Amino acid sequence: MPVETELYELLGVSFEATEDDIKRAYKRKAKEHHPDKNINDPEAGQKFQEMAAAYEILSDPHKREAYDLHGLDGMAGGRGDPMDAADLFTHLFASGGGHPMFGFDFGPDMGGRRRGKGEEVIPYEVTLEDLYNGKSVKMNMEKEIICGVCKGSGARGNAKPKPCSTCSGKGWTNSKTRLPTGVYANSRAQCTDCHGHGEKLKEKERCKKCKGEKIVKEKTRQEIFVEKGMSDRQRIVLAGAGDQEPGIPAGDVVFVLKAKPHESFERSGNDLLTNVTITLSEALLGFSRIILTHLDGRGIKMTSPPGKVIKFHESVVLRGEGMPIHRRPDEKGDLYVVFQIEMPDEQWLKTANKPAIEAILPAKRLEVDPLPEIVDEADFEESDIVDVGARSFPAGNFFDQGFASQFGEDEEDWEDEEDEEMDGEPECRPQ
Ligand SMILES: [Zn+2]
Ligand SMILES: [Zn+2]
Repeated sequence: MPVETELYELLGVSFEATEDDIKRAYKRKAKEHHPDKNINDPEAGQKFQEMAAAYEILSDPHKREAYDLHGLDGMAGGRGDPMDAADLFTHLFASGGGHPMFGFDFGPDMGGRRRGKGEEVIPYEVTLEDLYNGKSVKMNMEKEIICGVCKGSGARGNAKPKPCSTCSGKGWTNSKTRLPTGVYANSRAQCTDCHGHGEKLKEKERCKKCKGEKIVKEKTRQEIFVEKGMSDRQRIVLAGAGDQEPGIPAGDVVFVLKAKPHESFERSGNDLLTNVTITLSEALLGFSRIILTHLDGRGIKMTSPPGKVIKFHESVVLRGEGMPIHRRPDEKGDLYVVFQIEMPDEQWLKTANKPAIEAILPAKRLEVDPLPEIVDEADFEESDIVDVGARSFPAGNFFDQGFASQFGEDEEDWEDEEDEEMDGEPECRPQ
């Protein structure tokens, strides 16, 4: 019998559960409590996080043993990796106090732990590779800490501050401002001598280190972990890592991830989409080669099935080659590959044997039937359809190739896409 059972209860399993039981229970719970599915529950992010942390401990035999023997407090005692799940946990459950630790929450509306000094929000730009592979970032920061010499009193030795003579201890002074109408108005301004405190120390009674300011600037080195599968706008909270001020708890430093667009991959949730260009010969006769380099540098080789003709914009799905799922390190989404077909160029045509090509290719199309009574001749003037497509056509999304602009919406939206191929032939028939 473990010393405490809180984590087991969170996942809804008995303390005798097997690793498989725990994995299954977590999967089910994580799905149910995922913040994306519970947007109206302000505590969803927190619940999700607690379950993830519970899973992290219970799914690891060593951590689980330590937890069974010592409980959470026992295993979080000091030492080591700040990302340790037990640390994260005690922080999530901490009732104030505690030492600075890491935590995560989801989006601006969820689980925002406002502290005395508020939070300092720092945007941090990441590439899709960073989000795929995970990344640890060390950065130098400057923050205000309570002066160690005077312990935040600002005084030297036991000196006590005296009421400020400039403001007579009020902390503010009256000042006259001349309004545009020519009238003088009285206003209050913070006393510049005591900075509004109403009391101050004589020059020689001030702490040498902070000059009576109670705080000093300190350069610190912060390390943040961009975890595999994190998303754009996800927040990484370094609780208590912000500026300090005597008498109030230190603020949080919050990094908000900003995902840079990738030149070959697009992401939608846990899935990825990419375009692969094949030649006309490959489209007709097949291929067996490395078609792309993945976000971790791996080459992905594919062999098309014999006898398969690949059409323009045809797509395939590579199961388990999408983004890693955050906090489920062994699982990934899917990768969708859309084939683009590169036609041979005019240089090739110049040297090619045209009658031979014509003889092997399917025949040219015949005139339309029935033949219209009136036929006008049109010039072949090239145009840039991209520009035209950028304008809005009330008729709908004829020019929308259906991927670039729709990908990134809802997963369900584009999965059915294959059914909606543009119908009709490239003929122009008057209505
Ligand atoms: Zn003053
Ligand atoms: Zn000091």
